Amino acid sequence: MARVYNFSAGPAALPEEVLTQAQAEMLDWRGSGMSVMEMSHRGKEFMSIAEEAEADLRELMDIPSSYKVLFLQGGASSQFAAIPMNLIGRTGKADYFRTGSWSKKAIAEARRFGDIAVIDAEQDGKFTRVPAADGFSISSDATYVHYTPNETIEGVEFSYIPDTGDMPLVADMSSTILSRPLDVSRYGLIYAGAQKNIGPAGLTIVIVREDLIGSPIDGTPTMFNYLTQADAGSMYNTPPTYGWYLAGLVFKWLKSKGGLAGMAQINERKAARLYEAIDTSAFYANPVARDCRSWMNVPFTLADSALDAEFLKQAGEAGLKTLKGHRSVGGMRASIYNAMPEAGVEALVEFMAEFERNNA
Ligand code: PMP
Repeated sequence: MARVYNFSAGPAALPEEVLTQAQAEMLDWRGSGMSVMEMSHRGKEFMSIAEEAEADLRELMDIPSSYKVLFLQGGASSQFAAIPMNLIGRTGKADYFRTGSWSKKAIAEARRFGDIAVIDAEQDGKFTRVPAADGFSISSDATYVHYTPNETIEGVEFSYIPDTGDMPLVADMSSTILSRPLDVSRYGLIYAGAQKNIGPAGLTIVIVREDLIGSPIDGTPTMFNYLTQADAGSMYNTPPTYGWYLAGLVFKWLKSKGGLAGMAQINERKAARLYEAIDTSAFYANPVARDCRSWMNVPFTLADSALDAEFLKQAGEAGLKTLKGHRSVGGMRASIYNAMPEAGVEALVEFMAEFERNNA
């Protein structure tokens, strides 16, 4: 079967060049006579893979040397707990933006460890915008401020970095990391599950300023303590070796595409094309405030939801897969991460126009 355009929110499409290279190297990684999957994580071959991946990520994101980059397991969801465990100790308090389904989960987990004040963006039971850049205040006794720059389910994205002064800013970048250049120095900690813009599921990346490491609350498990992981180069136990390797291939691919500045141009064009198609039609709609629309996850509804199943069926037949919206919001969602080519968005827009002509 030919490869389809896969609009899944995650695990999501990977660049075809990366998959082809992984296939070519599958049985014998560069004369080692074995697959990367079969290598000792402490052997010199895997160590070179691991170091190169970290160096490439540091270069791509221009990560200052005062930050550690950790390659962990457990998904972003484990970080919902690890972050308060490692950071909340000083006062037991933190502030969280509440902008959609994922920040709600982060808040619920953080509440197990401390006193969480919420900056709430919910309106009439819906999440369709983020607070204005000057529309919130930070508790003076918080230890950090957490936000979700891109809410994967609602398709709501911050167009600005919240100004938290000296208060460390923590960001769940699972669905927006690597989509454009970023000033890492504005953050105390950035984390992301890999399965959207980094690589396969099973790898979680944490980028953390060194001075925030080393004061976990009592009872923090060894594996959740950033100090353990930082001191061991993310090899306290067996790391997710194959995911780390594939992430490294994705980083090389990004570098070959002009890095994050190059990606940003393409991503901005892809999102603009899709939102324009939605906005110029009376048949499709997106509920998100225009200045809060995600570049990566584009939810949309059909004027008549009775046509949803038919839309998905015909889209699938046209090679446009995984367009069903999250069960909590319904409708459709097109996730257009870095690996989605512009031709995929073009094919979707053309399909949408044709479906509208036939059904409006
Ligand atoms: N945060 C965000 C913004 C997400 O999109 C997701 C996954 N879709 C998660 C957290 C949870 O990630 P994981 O499955 O890696 O725990």
